[in-house]
Order: sequence, then C-alpha cells, then structure tokens
Amino acid sequence: MNERDAERLAAGLVRAGWRLVKNPADADLILVNACSVREKAATHALGRLRQLYQLTAERPGLLFGLTGCLAKHLGGEARDLLPRLNLLTGPGAVERLPRLLESVKGPDDFVKDLEPAEDEKKFDPDADFRLDHPAIGPHAAFVTVIEGCDNRCAYCVVPDLRGPEVSRSPEAVLAEVGHLAAQGFTEVTLLGQNVNSYHSKGRRFPRLLREVARIEGIERVRFTTSHPKDLSLELLEVMADEPTVCEQLHLPLQSGSDKILRAMGRGYTADRYRALVRQARELIPDLTLTTDVIVGFPGETGEDFEKTENLIRETGFDSAFMFKYSPRPGTPAYSLTDDVPAEAKQERLECVIGLVTESAFARNRGLVGRTLEVVVEGRDRRGEPFGRTRGGKSVKLPGESLEPGRRCTVEITGAGPWSLTGRRAEVLA
Ligand code: SAH
Ligand code: SF4
Repeated sequence: MNERDAERLAAGLVRAGWRLVKNPADADLILVNACSVREKAATHALGRLRQLYQLTAERPGLLFGLTGCLAKHLGGEARDLLPRLNLLTGPGAVERLPRLLESVKGPDDFVKDLEPAEDEKKFDPDADFRLDHPAIGPHAAFVTVIEGCDNRCAYCVVPDLRGPEVSRSPEAVLAEVGHLAAQGFTEVTLLGQNVNSYHSKGRRFPRLLREVARIEGIERVRFTTSHPKDLSLELLEVMADEPTVCEQLHLPLQSGSDKILRAMGRGYTADRYRALVRQARELIPDLTLTTDVIVGFPGETGEDFEKTENLIRETGFDSAFMFKYSPRPGTPAYSLTDDVPAEAKQERLECVIGLVTESAFARNRGLVGRTLEVVVEGRDRRGEPFGRTRGGKSVKLPGESLEPGRRCTVEITGAGPWSLTGRRAEVLA
C-alpha cells in the first residue's frame, strides 16, 4: 500500500513537471514515504531517513520532505528531529502534494499538511503512471479498491493514521484495470486494509473481484488483505471459479489463543480460523496460504503462545510476516501493560519463525517435479531470470534466457523455504 502511495506521489510530481532520478545525490528534492505501523518499521525508516537527510547538509538548496504514516505519526516532532525539513505531509495529502510544493521555494521554507484526504481524492483518477516495482515485475500493477479501516484491532495505528474506510466506486476500479490492460499490464493486485469489507453501490468484494477477473487481457488477479472475520464462502467460490484469480490468500491469524484474539478485538476464534482454512483448501486445492502473527501481546502466557504454535503447525503456512508486539501510542492496547518480557518475546518470535520456515520448506519440497505456470518478473544480481507462480512463489530460472513479462510453464527442480528453482518447459506468451 505504501508502494502504491509512493507511485501516486511520484505521478503527481511528474505531472507537475518534476522528473524522477535514480540516485538521491542527483535530486533537487528528496521525499521519504514511510510506514509506522510497528515501532521497528518506524525506527528502520528513521535510520534511512537520517542517512538521506545528511545530503541536505552537503548540498544547500536540496529540498527534503517526509510523507506518509510516519510523518503523521511524528507530527511536530519531525522538525525537532530534522530541522531542515521543508515538507511534512500525511497519507491524506497525496493528491495535494504538487500544489503544496509550489509554496516551498527555498531551503528555509516549511509546509505542513497532516489533514485527511477528501473521500473522492483518496484514489488516483490517473492510472497512467506506474513505477517499475522490483517486488511485482513490469507486467503487474497495484490497484487500490478500499482505503482506511473501520476495525479497531487493539494493537493497530492504521485506523488513526489512514482514517475510516472508504470504498472506491466499482466503475472507477474497473475503468482503471481496463486501462491497465489496454496498456499491456497482465496482472493486478487489488489493495485494501480489509478488502472483504469493500462495499459500494450494492457491490461487495466477491462480485468486484469476479468483474476484474473477466477484464480482457488480465491474466492474473491477486488481492490483499483479507480479514478472517469478513472472509465469505462467496469469495472463496469466486477464487475457485475464475481462472484468472490466483490461488493465493493472505489471511492474518495474529494469534491462536481465543483469549488473545478477544483482547485484540479480532472478531474470530481459532476454530473459526481453522474452519476457514479447511474450506479454502477444499475449494482451492493448490492454495498458497500466508499469514501475519504477533507474539507477546499483553497478557499472552506460555499457554496462549502454545496455542499459536499448534495452530501454525497444523495449518502449514507457505510464509508469514511475524512480529513482536510493540505498543503504539493512541491504540486501545497502549494503556495495557506491555507485560511479556523482551526475552520471552524474542524467544517466541524465533520459535514461530522456525515453525513457518519448516512448513514453507516442506510445502515447497512438495512442489518439486510439478510443472507450474510462471511469469518472469526480472533478473537477480547474477543476471539470472526469476519469476512467480500463480500462488505467488518466487522461482529462480538459472541459465534461461527469458525477458520480464514472459509467461511459461516451468518444471520445478529444486526448493528452499522461500523460493523454488525451475527449468522452462514451454513458453506460453
Ligand atoms: N489490515 C491488515 C494489517 C495491517 S498491519 C490486517 O488486518 O490484517 C500489518 C500487520 O502488522 C498486522 O497484521 C499485524 O500482524 C502487524 N502489526 C500491526 N500493529 C502491530 C503492533 N503494534 N505490534 C506488532 N505487530 C503489529
Ligand atoms: Fe489494523 Fe485491524 Fe484494520 Fe488491519 S483490520 S488495519 S490490523 S485495525
């Protein structure tokens, strides 16, 4: 989602006459768009930010801005940290940014806008500008369908920073995907904090997904994120029925303990999660299933954590984002005592990383010998091509001469926990 915001920011600036450069040392303006959902992410972003900020000392005249959730989270504090800051804008100001920049004429000027976006300005009407994402390849694009979040998971800053849920009109989504297809894009990832609560003009997400899947020229459709409490049978049926919808589901679990799930305000139980996974795997046999896990939420005992371990073990995820709980100011859980000791959090994190690595490796080993459809996304540091399966798994293709965007069938010859190796069988497109 942040990458899509960065792309929209860049699009606005290019329209206003700016030009993108590859090297920060060649820039007249550096804008950092950063996430603050977890403390570690924010600290990491601040480290990188400081490095880039050094350039403002070496090059008088260079303009420097901080945008996105981290900017909104820091507020006025940002200028104490970075006194030569020229621009501070929140995630709501993407569309206003070029105009705001017009009033920054020199290094002593400072403009701040942490206000939310007007609803109709939350989505970019201009779909033309796409950056080359190393993460998804030149044939693929992100398309936002819903912004913000109306849930109140106890640990989460997203509703504060990105505001309430707003669904984009189905006409706008379909027009954007149609436009992307006409430009030669063959893959789209529909984005939202909780795509399953999408509703606009009588459309809910399953129907929107079906309509996107049927757009001429679109060969692969992915979406993220699905909240387990809102995942419907109808959505799983659309995934099973529509040949272009990929067999990939990101379904954040967070915890396997009902007590902790309740304290987090997630709205489902561990058994409900199990039932959803069972249903999904029945309908979509080749499903790649990934998740998010938080360890060390306030009140999580060894017994609660064991329930998380068991659920992870029995589910067999293909991958997961795994985090130690970090208290975020302004969230409902911020008033709770962060009572799980740091060492226990670390131990639990290492434990879930071990479990997920094991299941990811086992599931990938199970693919060796299969022939899978792969779209080439780019070349690695050694110049070897790599691509992605419909399930979203990365496949190295050593020794093959395949340009990004090519679609082929690949015989899987090797497996590691996080990637596969394969040999081209047939080029399809
Ligand atoms: N909308 C998505 C999640 C967005 S945040 C959803 O509901 O699934 C991405 C992930 O960051 C969350 O799923 C959660 O696992 C993690 N996360 C969010 N806040 C956190 C916090 N305070 N501490 C640790 N992990 C957190
Ligand atoms: Fe945060 Fe929960 Fe909303 Fe996801 S659903 S963005 S975790 S509040």
